[in-house]
Amino acid sequence: MSEHRMDGPLSGNFRPMENLLEAPGLNPTRITPIDVRDNLPHTGVWPSRPLADITAIIHHQSMGMLTARGIAHYHQNVDPRGTPYGRGWPAIAYHLVVEQDGRVYWCLPWEARSYHSGGEANHYGVGVCWAGNFPGPGYQVAYSGLTLGHPTAQQAAVFRAVNDLLRETLNVQRTEVYGHCDQGKKKPACPGDEMMALVSSYRGW
Ligand SMILES: [Zn+2]
Repeated sequence: MSEHRMDGPLSGNFRPMENLLEAPGLNPTRITPIDVRDNLPHTGVWPSRPLADITAIIHHQSMGMLTARGIAHYHQNVDPRGTPYGRGWPAIAYHLVVEQDGRVYWCLPWEARSYHSGGEANHYGVGVCWAGNFPGPGYQVAYSGLTLGHPTAQQAAVFRAVNDLLRETLNVQRTEVYGHCDQGKKKPACPGDEMMALVSSYRGW
């Protein structure tokens, strides 16, 4: 049942953000995502887009669900605790999910035009979700019994490799790496202050 848990000790391995990108031994140059595209629950498929239309990487936090499977359930309106909330979408909305142990799950074909960022960003963006519940502008307290925490060292350790892989695979410029908060004003707390520090450090602005 661990893949359905809603919260947990999010902050145990947190390290100061300025050290994370350069910490020796913590930054693999390459990662191989675990392909779960055919394994996650889904009730349908997202519309498709040409690969060439993808020009940006957009980062998110999950605000609660800690596994790709849990997020997939939530996005389809199937809450593992039985409460009636969720999104009613055909499948998970993120292309990649990075769980707290740093494992990277490949959840959707890159061509899937899912609902991760709203508006046109859903079309030109590929969505990466960092599992956790992280503080950000307007979002500084826990809610609904969830524990507010930090990205783990294991997550931060693969940040560079995740972005390098996506940029190489999809031909995305380094300067076109964003947080959900960069896509209009609707989600200022996504992916949270600490993840945005990594985004800014990586893209160089
Ligand atoms: Zn988001």
